[in-house]
Amino acid sequence: MRTLGVNTRLKPFGATIFAEMTALAVKHGAVNLGQGAPDFDGPEWLKEAAIKAIRDGRGQYARMTGLPELTKAITTRFERTSGLSYDPERDVVVTCGATEAILDCMLGLIEPGDEVLFFEPFYDSYIASVAMAGGVPKVVTLEAPEFRISEAAVRAAITPKTRVIMVNSPHNPSGQMLSAEERSIIARVAQEFDLVVISDEVYEELWYEEPHRTLALEPGLRERTIVLGSLGKSFSFTGWKVGWAIAPANLAQAVRSAHQFASFCAATPLQVAAATALSAPDSYFEEFRAEYRARRDRMVHGLRACGFECDLPKGSYFALANHARFGFADDFAFCRHLVEHGKVAAIPPGAFYVNKAKAASLVRFAFCKKLETIDAALERLSLYRDRFERGEFAQHSEGAIGAVRA
Ligand code: PMP
Ligand code: GLN
Repeated sequence: MRTLGVNTRLKPFGATIFAEMTALAVKHGAVNLGQGAPDFDGPEWLKEAAIKAIRDGRGQYARMTGLPELTKAITTRFERTSGLSYDPERDVVVTCGATEAILDCMLGLIEPGDEVLFFEPFYDSYIASVAMAGGVPKVVTLEAPEFRISEAAVRAAITPKTRVIMVNSPHNPSGQMLSAEERSIIARVAQEFDLVVISDEVYEELWYEEPHRTLALEPGLRERTIVLGSLGKSFSFTGWKVGWAIAPANLAQAVRSAHQFASFCAATPLQVAAATALSAPDSYFEEFRAEYRARRDRMVHGLRACGFECDLPKGSYFALANHARFGFADDFAFCRHLVEHGKVAAIPPGAFYVNKAKAASLVRFAFCKKLETIDAALERLSLYRDRFERGEFAQHSEGAIGAVRA
């Protein structure tokens, strides 16, 4: 008899951790530093652009590849930050968020049984997207707390079936960014083994010291790299779900071949507004970064004061801390206890690992939040730490494990 439910490709992934932790945050009245979604709106001028587009009657399907004014704005902005020029008509695909672009890449590029190499911790849709496309995920672990790519480990994971290598920088959840050495490892290996590179650069505008540098700039990579971007991150409207892929025409065609049947197009009025967004002056991006730098510093210094070890993230809007001093069995146990008793929601990074034990002592806090939200969370974390030190949570490690595990 057939199973009337989820198929075997998707069953192993259960429910996404973001939906789960957000539901727990609501249930326990917690300050939500879990899902990476700002608790503030993006710019007023951008909202006005979207409202105007709706009023102006931009209510029908957009061009399948993306509105002409948006694909142009995407290539213009990318050229401004990288110096690389792409053809807005042939080399860009606008998608429903980068999440759709990731899936389109897999559906459009790989044959059943092809291997896709990527690194853990990874944004959770990577592995599910590979599975949906009938591919085989090959996961290389980046070891905490440095999360550095080792050429030996990458080479050891490559087989004759490897077709794609996928990289994310600035990185969710570690906050790391690729070094020059790591960029050249990817370039060397991709060329030697003739791999397509998917470079997830959705946090491209969220860097704090060294500017982000696209992988497409590495020697030999432009012609084999698909760069992914997302409006949601850089303009604080994650719910608009406008993303894109930029790639040479043959690779863009592969992405498009899936996109045309996956969604056909992203929401037209939001694409109109996105074109306005990407044409913002440099001062917008500088101010955006300065605000995020302040949030990052407040978050990380506060976490340290509350007893967490935590490196300053170099990019993205996540702080990855170590909760070992609280003595929980693993990250899922800690996050479940914290949301219920500390009233702060965080993400157990095990959700981003195949080898979940690697994340046992880690916890991810999203700081894309108002300073007062960060302060409120820190106040609660400090009370939690005090209660822990008074021995109130002595029983905590028993029976707390795994309840939010997918
Ligand atoms: N890649 C990474 C690394 C992410 O963290 C996210 C989501 N936050 C995405 C891709 C997906 O972006 P979008 O919201 O545009 O689908
Ligand atoms: N990428 C976001 C995060 O890491 C969440 C995306 C989602 O909810 N699917 O928090």
